[in-house]
Amino acid sequence: MSVIRTDIAIIGAGMAGASLAAMIGDRARIVLIEREAQPGYHSTGRSAAFWQESYGGPQVQPLTTASGPLLKAEGVLHPRGTIHVADADGERALESLAAELAGGGIDFTVLDRAALEAAVPGIRPAFRRGIGEPSCRDIDVAMLHARFLARARAAGTTLLVDAPLDGVERVGGGWRLATRAGEVRADVVVNAAGAWASAVAAMAGAMPTLVQPFRRTIVQLAVDPPTVPDLPLVMDARGRFYFKPEAGGRLWLSPHDETPVDPHDVAPEELDVAVAIDRLEQAVEWRVVKRERAWAGLRSFAPDRAPIYGFDPHAPGFFWCAGQGGFGIQTAPAGAMLAAALLLRQPPPEPVSAIDAARYAPDRVYRAG
Ligand SMILES: Cc1cc2nc3c(=O)[nH]c(=O)nc-3n(C[C@H](O)[C@H](O)[C@H](O)COP(=O)(O)OP(=O)(O)OC[C@H]3O[C@@H](n4cnc5c(N)ncnc54)[C@H](O)[C@@H]3O)c2cc1C
Repeated sequence: MSVIRTDIAIIGAGMAGASLAAMIGDRARIVLIEREAQPGYHSTGRSAAFWQESYGGPQVQPLTTASGPLLKAEGVLHPRGTIHVADADGERALESLAAELAGGGIDFTVLDRAALEAAVPGIRPAFRRGIGEPSCRDIDVAMLHARFLARARAAGTTLLVDAPLDGVERVGGGWRLATRAGEVRADVVVNAAGAWASAVAAMAGAMPTLVQPFRRTIVQLAVDPPTVPDLPLVMDARGRFYFKPEAGGRLWLSPHDETPVDPHDVAPEELDVAVAIDRLEQAVEWRVVKRERAWAGLRSFAPDRAPIYGFDPHAPGFFWCAGQGGFGIQTAPAGAMLAAALLLRQPPPEPVSAIDAARYAPDRVYRAG
């Protein structure tokens, strides 16, 4: 097999790797290395597919907010709106959320019981108050991911699929990468390996334990009455569930689970599905008619739950684009723009120029221990 020589090798062709390749493909030679036959098979293909400005809190919001107009320009956003709901035990969480939304300049409305019932017909009387976050949107994730990949390829990026990275070795001033599809020589390695980010870092001699994957479950249900298409995304203020409508009157429901696991091709646990349905039945008066399918994916976080963009302070030529947690779709365009500027050592362009890149730098994670 011949050796491929390139400027930058990006490990992982999920949303993180694809968006970054799309941003820099015309400014450097890129090889995108993907283990699976189908890029997007892991977290990217398993998301709940929404853009919600408050999701992830103040440290994620700058990336989400900056991504909003960019996603809109891609034509991948569709109106949804969120209603955060609270029972008596959730009142305090709802108040903190209102303060956070106000602090972040995010448009919101406070809903009394009557307004809540009108927005979510069938919500049980225990839920007395809510907060509407109307700017929330659904994202067409498959289209966005396909666009980024197509843009990268059009700019000359080579996509290697079925190409698990087996080893990374520092050779001279660059890297030798052993993949099942052949050897790649690169000046810079980008770690966009999602749940495997720590494993890839370990191979390269960078700090291996920065990123921890957590399992998150979604179940698709047929419910009675069927959901209406304009039902908002409904989020429990205490973080016990969220649900949103799906085509054909169906419902996507998550128990908002967050179970630490080793990176793998994750499947849903029966218990998490049962917990989700139980929490739904405590929240609304609808009847669950059928459990149609369930899936799980991995959301991978640094300890402080902010993404990691930047060169590793200890492994020269090793760049982090990882730890996007539960927000890697809604932050993708701005995250990739910021990462591209850091990677190419150029000033960040206007949509992200006001973002403090230091809060996403790998060394802040090292310093925190
Ligand atoms: C249930 C669920 C719901 C979510 N909902 C939302 C949402 O509504 N909105 C939102 O913004 N985000 C959401 N997320 C988060 C979002 O899906 C992730 O942040 C995002 O997909 C991460 O993208 P990624 O490219 O880092 O990871 P991935 O898509 O997992 O891509 C990483 C790629 O690296 C490859 N790889 C790993 N190791 C190697 C190796 N050694 N060699 C070669 N290739 C390798 C993998 O095969 C994989 O394809 C959700 C996640 C889950 C699980």
